[in-house]
Amino acid sequence: MNDFDRTLHPESRIVHPPVVEVNGSRPMGVPLHQSHVFAFDSSDALAAAFAGPDGGFVYNRNGNPTVRSLEQAVADLEGGTGALATSSGMGAINTVLLALLRSGDHVIAQRSLYGGTFATLADLVERWGVEVTHVGGDDPAEVTAALRPNTRLLHLETVSNPTTRVTDLPALIAAAKAAGVVTVVDNTFATPLLCRPIEHGADIVIHSATKYLGGHSDVLAGLAVFATPELHQKVWHHALELGATADPFAAWLTLRGLQTLALRVRRHCDTALDLAGRLAAHPAVTAVHYPGLPTHPDHELALRLLPEGYGGVLAFDLAGGREAARAFTESVRLASLAPSLGGVHTLVLHPASTSHRQLSDAELAAAGIGPGTVRVAVGIEHPEDLWADLEQALAKA
Ligand code: PLP
Repeated sequence: MNDFDRTLHPESRIVHPPVVEVNGSRPMGVPLHQSHVFAFDSSDALAAAFAGPDGGFVYNRNGNPTVRSLEQAVADLEGGTGALATSSGMGAINTVLLALLRSGDHVIAQRSLYGGTFATLADLVERWGVEVTHVGGDDPAEVTAALRPNTRLLHLETVSNPTTRVTDLPALIAAAKAAGVVTVVDNTFATPLLCRPIEHGADIVIHSATKYLGGHSDVLAGLAVFATPELHQKVWHHALELGATADPFAAWLTLRGLQTLALRVRRHCDTALDLAGRLAAHPAVTAVHYPGLPTHPDHELALRLLPEGYGGVLAFDLAGGREAARAFTESVRLASLAPSLGGVHTLVLHPASTSHRQLSDAELAAAGIGPGTVRVAVGIEHPEDLWADLEQALAKA
């Protein structure tokens, strides 16, 4: 099988990424084309290969067969017309923003964004004269009220970090669409198996493929998936000017990880829901943030938007505050104290002193992050072993 058969489930399509044929047979593993340049017999063919994101292969910044396999595989999963693989998730975010914005433009962005995205937007404001209005993730009226004649882009994340608030994508995207504004959704936390923002009207979907798509903590990569060929062409052109495109080996590692995405995501979701329930019943824990729990403020929305599962990230608040969080994160044995998420290993983090340390106490509180909040990026280890580890660390908190 090589052409995508849309009657098949994503779990089946994902293990058959497109592979370039060699002498009438096909390698089952996607070959690594580790060559930065490609030679031609004809000048016309060489010139034609420069044409666009779907052209022939001439130079790696323009395109590469291994990278193209990854782009087509993820575009298929997200329901896009094409994709651009980049050197990191931040590479995808910056390429998209810089390709679509110019000085004087206005952006509406969610308040609770990945820190790197927040910093990029702040930089665009300070150095490039872009205006930004931040909104919540649940009220389309807030988007409508923020619209200006120069509004060009709405930037959202499917699930927020670390408190796992779920964004009302259909409602917020509809508000932007009514005004002709392009919507970009960072779908890193959900993966295309749990949510496909293009089905809800998004124009561009971003992934830090470093996380679930790669899945093994060994590769840094990003993707931007497009709802139209026009957006693809525009952003691709800017990517090759920036030099932000993916390296073939990074694409190869991501493709290798991608083929087990469905198995891993199922396990991440099941274990996270199990641990969230057990944490909620633990006396040292005052609150658990996981959209699969009926107590979560967005549970109803999650039932609609994430019907296949609620993802592998959860957070919880420790009664003992900052000191308890420090003791907990330094006491885990099977889990590791580390940033990042989406890999096979379970990672724990204290956002207030690490990923969100630049926020004031008031900003932390506004983001729902308490001094004792701990984030757990649940891996694929056995749930009983994980619970035993969390329990022994909780006893020290
Ligand atoms: N988007 C989200 C939601 C993330 O969590 C991250 C990284 O943590 C990024 C983007 C940036 O991705 P990368 O580290 O691959 O540049």
